[in-house]
Amino acid sequence: MPVRLPFRPRRDAYPPDLWTKCPGCGEMLFNKQLDKTLRVCPHCSHHFRISARMRIEQLVDSGSFVERDADLTPVDPLGFMDLKPYPDRLMAAQLQTGLRDSTVWGIGTMGGKPVSMCVFDFFFMGGSMGSVTGEKVARAGEAALAERIPLLIVSSSGGARMQEGTYSLMQLAKTMGVVERVKAARVPFISVMADPTTGGTFASFAVAGDVNLAEPKATIRFAGDRVSSGTIGEELPEGYNTAEFQLNHGFVDRIVPRPKLREEIITLLGFLIAPSTGQTEPPAASLTSRPRSFLNALTGALIPDSNGNGNGNGEQTRGETSNG
Ligand SMILES: [Zn+2]
Repeated sequence: MPVRLPFRPRRDAYPPDLWTKCPGCGEMLFNKQLDKTLRVCPHCSHHFRISARMRIEQLVDSGSFVERDADLTPVDPLGFMDLKPYPDRLMAAQLQTGLRDSTVWGIGTMGGKPVSMCVFDFFFMGGSMGSVTGEKVARAGEAALAERIPLLIVSSSGGARMQEGTYSLMQLAKTMGVVERVKAARVPFISVMADPTTGGTFASFAVAGDVNLAEPKATIRFAGDRVSSGTIGEELPEGYNTAEFQLNHGFVDRIVPRPKLREEIITLLGFLIAPSTGQTEPPAASLTSRPRSFLNALTGALIPDSNGNGNGNGEQTRGETSNG
């Protein structure tokens, strides 16, 4: 009597390592061919999600990328457990992706220009932002600052990593702190939003670039439909979470198909990097002094002092007294 297996193999299934079904048009695509088109469907131009390593390979000059802090590994500060303990989830993701955490950062060149880059890998726990993720984004920003080279962040993330609780939320402040310093020092920062860029990444650095690029039809939003519409008490407009909608509403500057992304970033870097004069540029005024002196100048201009002198020298006369 033949042994009956609980599951019969499906006759119409293709070997999974050879073919991928396009969720956009339903075509079966040969994986090797798909790799040649940078994992964009040749029929409907659906952009498949790609790993951080593949993204870096697609963007940088061949062989130029040197990874940094590859061995930075997350810990389990809360002893967190949902259906599985957090360390088990981490280990499964590490085995699956070959990464220690959800980002890869390092220095590479694009069109011959050095760039400090941090790239998210959605396949590692949904690209979620834990302490190591935030640290790597911050270190990429600090390297950009120290070496005065452009910062490039490619986001593909579901947002904060709930297994790290508050530690995860603190990464928003940490990464934005560095990004603001990068911008204050007039070091270029280009942000690329791949599918999906949501939650904490969207709420922090992903839309804070000097130029914010997105891939076509990428999901870009803060929260899901139910949470968003529940919070504002209104139905959300059709397609509110797409790159195209965000482009029309100012969060995205340009939508760039993947095959043109490298070229586009190199062109932008050409605009954003000042031509070398052989002199080192003085760093911009530190962030701490700027808002206050701006507010003081404004107060001086609007409120006349006791001598009736109200035209702009308030910074000295009103000084530190009123605008803490
Ligand atoms: Zn397709």
